[in-house]
Formats: sequence, C-alpha cells, structure tokens
Amino acid sequence: MKEETKLIQKILSDPLTGAISTPIYQTSTYVQDAPGIHKGFDYTRTNNPTRKILEHLITDLEYGYASLAFSSGLASIDAVLKLLKCGDEIVAVDDIYGGTFRLLKLYKKLELHSKFVDTTFSENVISVISHKTKLIWLETPTNPTLKISDIKEISKISKKKNPNILVVVDNTFASPAIQNPLNLGADIVIHSATKYLSGHSDVLAGLITVKKPDLYEKLKYIQNATGGILSPFDSWLTIRGCQTLYLRVKKQSENAFRVAYFLLEKKKKTCIDKIYYPGLSSHKNHSVAVKQQRYFGAIVSFSLKNDTIESAKKVVTSTKLFKLAESLGGTKSLICHPATMTHKSTPLEIRKNAGIQDSLIRLSFGIENVEDLIEDIDQALT
Ligand SMILES: *Cc1c(COP(=O)(O)O)cnc(C)c1O
Repeated sequence: MKEETKLIQKILSDPLTGAISTPIYQTSTYVQDAPGIHKGFDYTRTNNPTRKILEHLITDLEYGYASLAFSSGLASIDAVLKLLKCGDEIVAVDDIYGGTFRLLKLYKKLELHSKFVDTTFSENVISVISHKTKLIWLETPTNPTLKISDIKEISKISKKKNPNILVVVDNTFASPAIQNPLNLGADIVIHSATKYLSGHSDVLAGLITVKKPDLYEKLKYIQNATGGILSPFDSWLTIRGCQTLYLRVKKQSENAFRVAYFLLEKKKKTCIDKIYYPGLSSHKNHSVAVKQQRYFGAIVSFSLKNDTIESAKKVVTSTKLFKLAESLGGTKSLICHPATMTHKSTPLEIRKNAGIQDSLIRLSFGIENVEDLIEDIDQALT
C-alpha cells in the first residue's frame, strides 16, 4: 500500500461496535478481574486505548518501532532529555526552537551542557563531539530562516565517531509528509503535533517515535514516571487531524512555493530584501532540501530593504487573509514578526547571528486558494 492509503486504512473501526471513528476512552481507570488481571489497561497515565491508536499511527507515519504521545511538544522534548545524566553533553543546532533553548538552559543547572553549532556544515558537529557527548539535536528546516541540515550525513559521521551517540530530530517543521528522519539514520524523532500533525490549530500535543525497543522502554518509563501524557480527547483530535496530513502539507507546500516565487519576481520593484525558502535555488541549502525532502515545506520568510521593526509591523498589520499569530501548520495562513513575537526573548546578538533581522517576516501557509493569498500579500507590500 502507498503511504496515503496506509495512513487511512490503519485507523481501524472499533471492534466492539463497528464505530468508524475512533472512540474517545474518557476514563482514568479500568476494572480488573483480579488484582493485576486486566485487559491491558490499568490506569490512563500508563495506557489509554485512544492514545495508543494515535501512537500506532505516528509509528507508521515515521517508520519507527513505537511511539509515545505527550501533552505538548515540549513535554516530549523534556522526556528525551531525561534519558541523559549529570555531566553529559548535547550538540545542538544553533538556531534551535526557542522553547527547547529555554529548556536546555534549565537543564544546565543539572550539569547537562549544550554546545550549539551551525549543523548545515556536518563537520561542525564532528569537531565538537567529545567523550561526554550523548545526544545530537537536529532541527531541519529551522525556524524562521529555514536552514537545512543533512540528517543522513550527520547521523553517519556522528555514529562513526561514537556508535552510542543518539541522533534526535525535531521534525516539526517538515512533518512526516516531507521527511522521515528514522529512515535517514536518526534514533529518535519528535514532533510538536500542535503544528502540522494535528493541523487545525486546536490542540497542543507532542510525539516521540523511536527506532529501537530499548529506547522505547526507557522513554515509556520516563513518561509514566513524570506523567506528561496526552489526554484522550486531545489524542482523538490529533488522530482526526493526522488523517488529512498528506493532503494538507502538499497544498500548503504548493502555496508556499508559488508565493516564494511571486516574492522573488516582485523583489526588484518592491521593498523586499532577502527571501528564505528551501525551494529557491538561491537558498544556501537548496541541494540538501532537494535530496532530503519530498516538498520544500510551507513556511516562507523574508526581510525588508528598510530593515526596521516599524516597517515590518506595517506589513504584518496590513494583510487581511494572513492572520497575525504565532505557531504554524494550521489550515489558516498566518503571518508573524519573529523579532517582536516568537524570538522576543532571544538576546539581540544571538537573534542577529541567526539571521533574524528586525524586519524579518514569517509566513505559515494554510490551504486557501493561492491567488487570494498572492493578492493579499501584494496589497500589504504596496
Ligand atoms: C512549537 C514547537 C515546539 C514546541 O511544541 P509545543 O507543542 O508548543 O510544546 C518544539 N519544536 C518546534 C520546532 C516547534 O515549532
């Protein structure tokens, strides 16, 4: 079966009633026949049938061994970091998601140290690996300048240096419709399912998928011990969202591609300075994107010739269809000003080093008609 068919057919109807939609098992506990004798479920923190169906679904989507669903993307990232111990080191992509950066800062208190490098050059990763390095943390594409790192090459050379190193990929910005890190050599893939997987801006959720049984057992223990699980209802919303993943991401990526080329055409005549989109041949990691991704993704960023916060604010408050909001991956197109929104708390120097200029604007594409979106962005720029 092809992926799209498998995704839909995998969600079985309820064996008890034939209900075609997954039942929401809104229960905290389960009746047992005798102490410890039950139908595989004893308490919802440990196991819940609705959550289990979602976990099986993402395992298939990411070609993994097993998965775990958490109450947010960050709760799942936190669980992965709990695999480490005091004194261990992490090598991470330098423009890592702000929330992950904040969490790593918290773990510094527990003597878990992070080294941040530009992972678009694989040799940068190798040069900082030490005997203490336990995790390589990749995000590709990154937010908001869409840098692409070569998952296959980094996994290969890191493991050559030390076979015990775990490669983790935060696949939120791509989604499984665009790339499958476990097939490229990664050990763990995490998602903020809040974005493309749930896809309708109505739920917060996090997912971990692993390649091997021992990692699953360790993470299952951590999840049960710490309790940051996804609720039955939010599991159901995520299952519902996932069913249209391939359709949405294809359309969203097509919209982004068309608008990126429209901005490129307009560039000479308008206020636009730089355009960041992996689908443009001018993007510095374009060739890795061509090799690694099925689509170029549904995020486009651009900066203005007049590089000020004020000029960006004028644009982001002038669109009518693109709604001004943080987050991404929903059906509605969004516009965001990283310098004053998502990256407001990033120190100025780090923000500028990551290429996040004062005027940088990020577009997250929804599923609207592209002509309407082009018209909207065109009027906002004039
Ligand atoms: C949003 C996001 C997260 C955090 O997910 P939450 O569901 O908001 O906790 C992690 N990584 C990336 C790349 C994200 O975009």
